[in-house]
Amino acid sequence: MLIYEKLVDDIFLVYSNTTFWFKCQGILIKNKNLGSILIDCNCFYEKEIKKLLKDPVEAYFVSHVHLDHVYNLHYYEEYNPKIKVYCPIPEDKYLKDFNNFIRDNGTLDYGIGDNFKKFAFKELNFKELNSVIVFNPGTEYEFDSIHLKTIHTPGHSPGHTAFSIEDKREKKRKILFVADIGLTKMGAWYGFKYSDLKTVRESIKKIEDIYLNDDFIIASSHGPAIFEKQPEIFNELLIKMNEYDKKILNMFDTHTPKGLDDLIFKGLFFSENYIKSIKGNHKSIIYFFENNMIMSHIRELVEKEKIVEVGTNQWIMNN
Ligand SMILES: [Zn+2]
Repeated sequence: MLIYEKLVDDIFLVYSNTTFWFKCQGILIKNKNLGSILIDCNCFYEKEIKKLLKDPVEAYFVSHVHLDHVYNLHYYEEYNPKIKVYCPIPEDKYLKDFNNFIRDNGTLDYGIGDNFKKFAFKELNFKELNSVIVFNPGTEYEFDSIHLKTIHTPGHSPGHTAFSIEDKREKKRKILFVADIGLTKMGAWYGFKYSDLKTVRESIKKIEDIYLNDDFIIASSHGPAIFEKQPEIFNELLIKMNEYDKKILNMFDTHTPKGLDDLIFKGLFFSENYIKSIKGNHKSIIYFFENNMIMSHIRELVEKEKIVEVGTNQWIMNN
């Protein structure tokens, strides 16, 4: 079943109430004159997408091409072949040809490209799209009275986009849809080869600046909507990242060299219970994610001279 949480009149946070773990939530902007605008409404059930398509849809926006955001997009194209799907550059090429995705995200080089493809096409029923409209994040759109600003927030993925939504006709509060900036228990996520820790931090600061200088309701891809101003919410995300830095640093000592295998699957990013529960194909993907996240911190710790490399991919704490 589709849940519509009203943010302001005619603008909703939309999600499936499925217990399936791999899902996201999106935004529905109703507009009588032009048709709806949808952002990241990758619902879990085909029938939910049919339902959203009962009203005319003027545009569909993708925040970024991670599978939990796009695996069911093909239904939109199937039921409405003329639908305009906007996707941020350079991720449009991932929607059109998945081989571009496994190359850029690093799974191909890492030797799990086929596993990742199997996860996408067989388990999630992902299909490539025939037609995608590419946009440069930063572009602003006017849809009738709706002013939609796309905000480039890379790091999580190269084209990752947040959205500021304002209805100019009526005096309503603005919405800031921050997609996967990191408002989850784990915090920011940077588990692909193209992810970048420093850029994630810069994007968080960029969003914080926008949020602190205006009145916004925040919605994101995986957490509750936030109606009351929480000035510290983005700073807390940065603090969480620094805590990972500290945790990883503390796993080293000054005399015994340690490598990735000594750090991985010790409950750092993915909890030990979660790791125990995953099987087969998924394990190699989660291993790859945690590997990349830890490596991002290791690179940073080496740069700050907190640890030093002694031998290939072995480090000790600097004293
Ligand atoms: Zn994502």
